[in-house]
Amino acid sequence: MASDCIFCRIAAGEIPAKLVREDENVVAFRDIDPKAPTHVVVIPRRHIASVNDLEPGDAALLGEIFLAAKEIAREEGIAASGYRLVVNTGRDGGQSVDHIHLHLLGGRRHSWPPG
Ligand code: 5GP
Ligand code: ZN
Repeated sequence: MASDCIFCRIAAGEIPAKLVREDENVVAFRDIDPKAPTHVVVIPRRHIASVNDLEPGDAALLGEIFLAAKEIAREEGIAASGYRLVVNTGRDGGQSVDHIHLHLLGGRRHSWPPG
């Protein structure tokens, strides 16, 4: 765990968050500043800073993150209406927390291309 990482601290229960799901490897919680009616952040428990830091051995973990997002979308009632999954990466990607995370956004129509 990176003790200076806000998402590591949420995963460890050191910072409160509205958890929607957690298991051995993955934690999901409601975004503190939601950008859509449903806005859940899905993270690996293990600290990986960004997509740039992924390694081949992380492939199964990424699959678990996507499967968690799929289940949450169903539970939130947005599976049929649709949703957007976003992984902001680096400065130009708009990443503000350096612990890899998947945004699950739904409950409203999303435009394309993104801003
Ligand atoms: P990024 O901008 O890195 O793609 O996404 C980081 C997200 O984490 C933002 O949407 C931001 O609102 C959310 N966030 C930052 N700090 C906290 C926090 O302490 N608790 C929760 N629940 N969300 C946070
Ligand atoms: Zn972290």
